[in-house]
Amino acid sequence: MQNISDYNFNGKKAIVRVDFNVPLNDKFEITDDTRIRAAIPTLKKVLAGGGSLIVMSHLGRPKGVTEKYSLKHIIYRVEELLGVKIQFADDCQKAQEQAAALKPGEVLLLENLRFYAEEEGKPRGLAEDATDEEKKAAKAAVKESQKEFTKVLASYADCYINDAFGTAHRAHASTALIAKYFPNDKMFGYVMEGEIKAIDKVLGNPERPLTAILGGAKVSSKIGIIEHLLDLVDNMIIGGGMAYTFKKAQGGKIGKSLCEDDQQELALRILDTAAKKGVKILLPGEVVAADAFSNDANTIVCPATEIPDEYEGMDAAPSSVEAWKDVLLSSKTILWNGPVGAFEMPNFAKGTNAIAQILKEATEAGAFTLVGGGDSVAAVTQMGYSDKVSYVSTGGGAMLEYLEGIELPGIKAIRE
Ligand code: AMP
Repeated sequence: MQNISDYNFNGKKAIVRVDFNVPLNDKFEITDDTRIRAAIPTLKKVLAGGGSLIVMSHLGRPKGVTEKYSLKHIIYRVEELLGVKIQFADDCQKAQEQAAALKPGEVLLLENLRFYAEEEGKPRGLAEDATDEEKKAAKAAVKESQKEFTKVLASYADCYINDAFGTAHRAHASTALIAKYFPNDKMFGYVMEGEIKAIDKVLGNPERPLTAILGGAKVSSKIGIIEHLLDLVDNMIIGGGMAYTFKKAQGGKIGKSLCEDDQQELALRILDTAAKKGVKILLPGEVVAADAFSNDANTIVCPATEIPDEYEGMDAAPSSVEAWKDVLLSSKTILWNGPVGAFEMPNFAKGTNAIAQILKEATEAGAFTLVGGGDSVAAVTQMGYSDKVSYVSTGGGAMLEYLEGIELPGIKAIRE
């Protein structure tokens, strides 16, 4: 594997997998260009080094060629940010001539890779009543044609850069399979480098104490992360909807709060494992409970183990946040994933916003703070603190899998 900072791009064509999967409104206007902006330093590096670019991405989840998901809608913004005119290939598999004609400093954007089933390697258009045999045959067929699809993409360039952290947990043609065609000329882009460095700073050899704050709705969706982190952290704050499964398992009265009854045994096992490993678990003491899942509901503050029957826990109460704050401000490394309340409703966003505030203070005091996962990133962004914490991850699913200790295919393909 090569390093983008040292690689000589002079006269080379670089094929770069970026994540231009940006949200568009009804008029196909970009409503958040964060992902495009994130990729610009990598693209500029190649051009400044005398190379040319073949840029590839997916947009949305099309099941074939779909106007709505055409990458041509976003060209204007890439041109503005890069300051270079973009050429466009209407079909990512028929760009040989355009790629071959590229001169140093020129940029060719390929149409949405997912217009082809081969990008993901998953069969499409299977009849609902398809038999297992038919499904198996269709899967084998698309896997076979995926090889040719990948080879065509690879044929456009001299080197490959993966800068799409958001899809690094997928073993797709453009994110992983293509790397083998560039055994000596493959590398991470700056987005990937930044993400890997930030997560390794937390999971690799962190400055201690290391505290994780885990929130969100369900224990079941975070179990892999909890188990992996129990081997690494000193403290684990468990907030949000999933805290109530723990509280009920411990014999608490949680009213109508979110609860996964089938996960209670697991919750007790987690607490037991944590105790054996010397990991301090902090659940909310008091919570804000409401008599309906609505912003205008009546609310009370009560212990998380004494929630009245008609009420449900909606947010961490100020006293809980205060208790967490002591632990957070004495931590040297903090990882945050998931809101500690139903934060989409302003009346129940106070706990989550307070966490964002504490992370800002901890960062100012010298801690390394990493925020990952869609909702906690949204909370930090809403508070205007994206640049007040050490690192905000751009990859939702990829980040979660990384935290589970899974080696992401997009990272493995570059490293091996
Ligand atoms: P997840 O996708 O598992 O990270 O969960 C995120 C969701 O959990 C958000 O939509 C929050 O509104 C929700 N959530 C967090 N705390 C609570 C709670 N106490 N009651 C209901 N929903 C919650």
